[in-house]
Amino acid sequence: MDMMRLVFEISFMVFWICMFIIRYPFAQQNKKNNIVSDKKDGIEKFTLALTSLGMLLLPIVYVATPWFSFADYHLPNAWGIFGLIMLIPVMMLFYRSHRDLGQNWSATLEIRDEHTLVSSGIYKHIRHPMYTAIWLWVICQALLLQNYIAGLSGLISFGVLYFLRVAKEEQMMEIQFGQQYKVYKQKTKRLIPKLF
Ligand code: SAH
Repeated sequence: MDMMRLVFEISFMVFWICMFIIRYPFAQQNKKNNIVSDKKDGIEKFTLALTSLGMLLLPIVYVATPWFSFADYHLPNAWGIFGLIMLIPVMMLFYRSHRDLGQNWSATLEIRDEHTLVSSGIYKHIRHPMYTAIWLWVICQALLLQNYIAGLSGLISFGVLYFLRVAKEEQMMEIQFGQQYKVYKQKTKRLIPKLF
């Protein structure tokens, strides 16, 4: 196997560990914050499990075994290097969105005790910066794990979760925060900031 592919694969796994470390203290801290409304349905549970498969399990199997090598693809090295460089801003955006959401963050559709609507920090510019970070993450996965199974499974599984979740999340926020959320929605876009 060529050297660059190995560098890309190892970097992606190290990145994964970094993302876990970024999220961990927020997950711990928020355990103390009671959930008052749980909007997680069967579809949400299924798509969450699908992302564990597509974003974690299949990449591990790919890196640790030769089983998927029949499905490799080969991108120009510049694409992989681009993916490698992107990992840094992705980590920064992921951290920033956790920090700004603070005690309001959940891995799924939930409203917590004393839930407040965050519309400052990075949330002033877009409503779903964490999902922007995760979209970039799964794009990097496809650039760094050059394999039709383990490279594309992140995009597919997160894509399914995102499109099934985002409207439901906004609806949940609108029920909780009413007019305040409607105004916030008019001022912002979902994933990419408005330029003017
Ligand atoms: N969609 C957001 C947050 C992801 S975490 C993002 O991509 O950055 C998902 C949880 O965050 C939801 O269950 C909801 O409870 C909470 N949430 C989403 N947007 C929020 C906001 N603007 N203020 C406070 N909580 C929010």
